[in-house]
Amino acid sequence: MVKIPKHNYRPTCLAIRSYLFVLVVASCGTNALAQCSFTNYPLWFDPEIFPEFPGGYDGNNYRNQDEALTAAKRAAFGPTGAYPSYSVAYVCKGYYISMNLSLAAGGGAGEFPYDGGVMRLADLATNQSLLVFSVRRGFCGRDANGNLSIVSTRDFVYTQTQVLSCSEQRSLQLGLSGLSEIRPAGTGGTSTISLIAKVTSGNSSAPGTAISFSVDVAPNSGGHDHDVNRPKGSLSATQGVTDANGEVKLTFQAPTISGTHTIKANCNTCSNPVASKEIQVKVPNLVEMLPDTAKPATYTLVGATGNHKSNHWFAPNARDTLVSVVDTMFKTGWGAVGVNDGSLVWGGLFDIKGGWTPSHQEHRMGTEVDLSVTNPRNVTDAQKKKTYAELCKKNNSAFSIQTLWHQDDGYPEHFHVYLDGTGLNSPAQGGPCCARYKTTRAKVDKNGDPVLDRNGKPVQENVALCEETSPR
Ligand SMILES: [Zn+2]
Ligand SMILES: [Zn+2]
Repeated sequence: MVKIPKHNYRPTCLAIRSYLFVLVVASCGTNALAQCSFTNYPLWFDPEIFPEFPGGYDGNNYRNQDEALTAAKRAAFGPTGAYPSYSVAYVCKGYYISMNLSLAAGGGAGEFPYDGGVMRLADLATNQSLLVFSVRRGFCGRDANGNLSIVSTRDFVYTQTQVLSCSEQRSLQLGLSGLSEIRPAGTGGTSTISLIAKVTSGNSSAPGTAISFSVDVAPNSGGHDHDVNRPKGSLSATQGVTDANGEVKLTFQAPTISGTHTIKANCNTCSNPVASKEIQVKVPNLVEMLPDTAKPATYTLVGATGNHKSNHWFAPNARDTLVSVVDTMFKTGWGAVGVNDGSLVWGGLFDIKGGWTPSHQEHRMGTEVDLSVTNPRNVTDAQKKKTYAELCKKNNSAFSIQTLWHQDDGYPEHFHVYLDGTGLNSPAQGGPCCARYKTTRAKVDKNGDPVLDRNGKPVQENVALCEETSPR
């Protein structure tokens, strides 16, 4: 064991070292914040040698060992962090020739003396390091001319029992069970997804870690070219503490509106304080109905607006059916069919006016379409009736559609077509193929007699007729 020479300027040890091994460790990592700290034990140097001693480093937290060591050196040696060079005269008075500080990792072999005994690295945990001093002292004599000179040197290493404790590096990982894609609420299938935020410390889980959560939605995503007051999906929790497995479980509920959502988890004590996960809220696999390039065209795409610049997205089978429908309509003499809203690119709620509330109740899954009766041209009632009959005939053969003629929310008269045959009174639902159309006819009373106005002329009324063209 190295015997420490008595030396006037050797740093003094205070009688506090018995607390060394009970102090709480902070966490540590190369990119971590406030993860390393020295034990609360003041490093004291003789102010005559270290007049610029800044003090206070021992109570601080450091991001890593290098940063902590640099702070200790600056505290010991001044702003340069280096021990000054002294003249022979000073060395012969007892000043060290050189001195440096380093950290010896805990847990291994090796021991370092201090003025009250010996500290063994084996007594330290592997996440702890001992601050050690390497010094060189000179011993002097007088040469033949009587001048003072250094005749021998001696190196030794000791410690002030200053221990740096670092936590193991923590890394936050946000894991998701299932895919990063989910359907908008109200479009069938599942619209919730389970999320697991997991905090690990090395290869182990880290229980008791506080995590907070937030969710946001990307502007202009999901086919909505408008963003004011945009609603977003919700999380089942905004904060939590990791369980025994180092996990916090929560769920994300998709809104009725499609779009790209980003879930963020925040962990202030982790080396990566934020982890995020992107989730696409969408009806998958919709395809676009492209403009008809035939001459003459069998259909014209209409209805795009500033709020929704792309409005003709369909399920693949539905688009095929739509092509057949417009072809049939065209052949009955309809002319180019005005194909209005289908669905948005990712489906979900189609808010025509951009207010995030239903105007289209349906049109969410790419299986319905609105067909105009006025755009690109007005279609006569006779033509409508003829077309209905033809579509109903087809309905029991090639098509599986239900054609309704409705007006809602003050929108113009149009056909609302269930391209997958799921209309309430569709053959697929057990109902008749009912060709509904509007017409004007003479109003009658309960006896079947015409109702007359004050001038004695028959009163006309608008009615929606339903002709059952294919009895079942
Ligand atoms: Zn919209
Ligand atoms: Zn519609």
